[in-house]
Amino acid sequence: MQGRKDIAVKQSIPKHLRYTVEDFNREFPNDDACLEHIAEERFPGGRAPCEKCGVERKHYRVSGRTAYACDHCGNHIYPLAGTIFEKTTTSLRLWFYAMYLMGSTRCGISAKQIQRETGVTYKTAWRMFREIRTLLSEDLRLDGPTEMDETYFGGRIRSHQRKERSHDNKTAIIGMVERKGRAVAKTAISAGARTLHRLAKEHILPSNTVYTDEATGYDKLASLTDDAGKNLHSSKIYVMGDIHTNTVEGFWSLIKRGIGGVYHAVSQKYLQTYLDEYTFRYNRRDQGNLLFKSILAEVSKRASKSRASVGSEIPRE
Ligand SMILES: [Zn+2]
Repeated sequence: MQGRKDIAVKQSIPKHLRYTVEDFNREFPNDDACLEHIAEERFPGGRAPCEKCGVERKHYRVSGRTAYACDHCGNHIYPLAGTIFEKTTTSLRLWFYAMYLMGSTRCGISAKQIQRETGVTYKTAWRMFREIRTLLSEDLRLDGPTEMDETYFGGRIRSHQRKERSHDNKTAIIGMVERKGRAVAKTAISAGARTLHRLAKEHILPSNTVYTDEATGYDKLASLTDDAGKNLHSSKIYVMGDIHTNTVEGFWSLIKRGIGGVYHAVSQKYLQTYLDEYTFRYNRRDQGNLLFKSILAEVSKRASKSRASVGSEIPRE
């Protein structure tokens, strides 16, 4: 199992990439600090467009509320609006802490663990992780030599089922991994040539070399053409026969160990979001536990800005 060794060895994080729980407690001691962080990311320096004034104004924190008020007319804006925190009744600091834990473990953390550690209900913990995972999907186009492979997840095989039907209850996962870098993993109903081709086209830049093993779909992939007979992907596709595609194999072992070890039963419905989490982590494996900051940054990046001033829809704390 390639990959297992370097995970066991690489326990200590270089100093400049460390972000300890003490660092976390210092930077985010309470809900206010967390709110101010989001507000500053969305409205740097407190400057935001005021709907009533029609121009950008400085806004000040309204005490006891999650609102900021225009310094000219007093109109409120809500930095949490449009974010995953918009409707939450859970403490903001707990959300931040869940993201911290998610970014500080190499293999992920389960809802059970955060339930034990913080005392929230399992349901709340599970919902928090589900929301956080929605921040982690990436739309990447891989570049450079890339390995492509498929694996299957879930679906118990019943003994009376015929062997060739053994993938029936399983979800296919297609992995694409740059030899020296990033990865994309997508669930699919099947790993047929058309699916592989579509994913290669969507996620691998043309003209790159794609390495695969000898699975049937890839043989076809190399020669797949459109209606006009033109090759659909200009990448050179090499089928490697018995030679293992080591980079993608390492990626699989990381994903399988993580999902198998931490999330004991991942339903097919949410499998893609777990893959997104693992891929996000894999693609930032050189960040140490500053990974937390990358996760946190996605909150504001993915917030819908237009909704920040829709006051009436925002829950009061
Ligand atoms: Zn105003």
